[in-house]
Amino acid sequence: MMIATETIDSSRDEYFMRLAIEQARAAEQHGEVPVGAIAVYQGEVIGRGHNKVITTLDPSAHAEVLALRAAAQYLGNYRLSGVSLYVTLEPCSMCAGLMVHSRIQRLVFAARDPKSGAAGSVFPITNHPNLNHQVSVTEGICAAECGAMLSEFFKQRRAIKKHLRQQEKLNNQGQGTPE
Ligand SMILES: [Zn+2]
Repeated sequence: MMIATETIDSSRDEYFMRLAIEQARAAEQHGEVPVGAIAVYQGEVIGRGHNKVITTLDPSAHAEVLALRAAAQYLGNYRLSGVSLYVTLEPCSMCAGLMVHSRIQRLVFAARDPKSGAAGSVFPITNHPNLNHQVSVTEGICAAECGAMLSEFFKQRRAIKKHLRQQEKLNNQGQGTPE
């Protein structure tokens, strides 16, 4: 019985994580770092968000913030007890802090962020014993896929920057020499 329940739960987690991945893809299409989030309450999606910091000129417009804001509007409550949040990347300290403030029940994330993750990698904000609320955390759902999506994005961005630098160099060289 236990095994059957766990199987159902992990396929449900994967289902919602796939929706978060769709959000991340939408971010990518706008040139944003591909991170997506889905807020779920009683098995229903009540908030979606993808990273929009560049397009909205808002450094706080992370996927998690937008999904939790939408969830609060939907529930008509600033406290989000019973809400699960699915995110394609381990949250940063700002978003992990928001999860504690909003009292969400559960965080499910895909890939770890060893440079700024605040669900254990750098800071243990989601389950710090001194804070007044701890979030239950499940990690690793679709981790390989989400990790690959991010590294591919940064790889492409580096390639574009390198290309631009080379073009600039060529242009500068061209200025000094007569045709
Ligand atoms: Zn964040």
